[in-house]
Amino acid sequence: MTPPQSPTMRALVFDGAAKVVDIPRPIPAPDELLIRVRRAGVCSTDLEITRGYMRFHGVLGHEFVGDVVEGPPEWKGRRVASEINCVCGRCDMCAGGLANHCRDRTVIGILGRPGAFAEYVAVPRQNCHQVPDAVDDEAAVFIEPLAAAFQITRQVNIESRYRVAVLGTGRLGLLVAMVLKRTGCRLVAIGRNPGTIALLDRKHIATTNVDDADGVGRHDVVIDCTGSPDGLPLALRLVRPRGVIVMKTTCQASQPLNLAPLVIDEVSLIGSRCGPFPDAIAALARRDIDPAPLITARLPLSRGDDALRTAAQRDQIKVLIDPTT
Ligand SMILES: [Zn+2]
Repeated sequence: MTPPQSPTMRALVFDGAAKVVDIPRPIPAPDELLIRVRRAGVCSTDLEITRGYMRFHGVLGHEFVGDVVEGPPEWKGRRVASEINCVCGRCDMCAGGLANHCRDRTVIGILGRPGAFAEYVAVPRQNCHQVPDAVDDEAAVFIEPLAAAFQITRQVNIESRYRVAVLGTGRLGLLVAMVLKRTGCRLVAIGRNPGTIALLDRKHIATTNVDDADGVGRHDVVIDCTGSPDGLPLALRLVRPRGVIVMKTTCQASQPLNLAPLVIDEVSLIGSRCGPFPDAIAALARRDIDPAPLITARLPLSRGDDALRTAAQRDQIKVLIDPTT
C-alpha cells in the first residue's frame, strides 16, 4: 500500500538558479495560518538573493496578500498581509519590545523560512494583519514595503521646516518619497531614472537628477534608498553638520569608504529596516498613498523566473506575481 501523497503546489524556488517547480504544500504549525496567495510583489531584496544575498535557498518572496485557508475559525477566510519577521517571543530582544530584532528569528523568503512566490505559504498567526476591503489586492502587496518606508518616520521626527533628500527613485525610494511628502517637509527626490522621476513629478514631488544634486552640506535629513554603494558617500556630501542619514541600502561597499565626515560633521547614521503595518494599511485605505502607478508588469507564477528577470530591467518598477492563474 502506498502512503497518501501530500498535496503539492507550484512555487518559485531559488537554489543557485530561480525556477518554478512543484513542491509539497506547507503544513502550518499550531501557531501558524496557511494562506493561499492572491498576489505577491518582487522586491529588490529578492533580486539580491538571486545574486547571493543572505545565502538563502528556497521559495522566494515576502511581499504578498492572500486568504487564510487553514487556521482557527476566526481567521479562516480572512484576507491578510503578513509581517515578515517570525520571532521566538522569548529572547531579550522580544522581551524588550524589539521583536523585529529577535535573535532567533526567521524571515519569510529571506532567512530560514519559505516565501510567498507560491500558491500557499504558512506564517505565524501573530504576523498577520487583516486587509480592509478599501485596499485591493494590488495595493495590499505594497503594505510590507510601505511599512518599511513609514519606519523612517518612527525613527526620525521629520519636521515640516526640514530640508530632506531621498536618494534613489527605485521601488523603495518612490514609496519613501510618497510617505515623506505627507510630512510637509521640504523634500527632494534625487535619482537618475527618467521614468521614475516623471512619476514623482506627477505626484508633485520635487526631483533632481543625481548629476545635478545641489545643496551640499545643507540637508537636515538624507535617506539612502539607492541600493548602491554610491549612496552613502553622496548622503555624506549632502547632509548638514549634525544632520541625520537614514540607510535603507543593504549592499556591500565596493571600495573603502571615508567616514571622517561622519565624525567631523557629527552626523547621525541610522539603519532602517521593517516598519509598522498599521500605518501602511491605514494610508492605503484612506488613499493617502496610491501605489498603483508603480506597477509596471504582472506575470503568472508559472512565469516566476521571467518576473525576476523583468523586475531587474531598468524601465520596471514593481512587478507583480499572480499565483491564481
Ligand atoms: Zn526572540
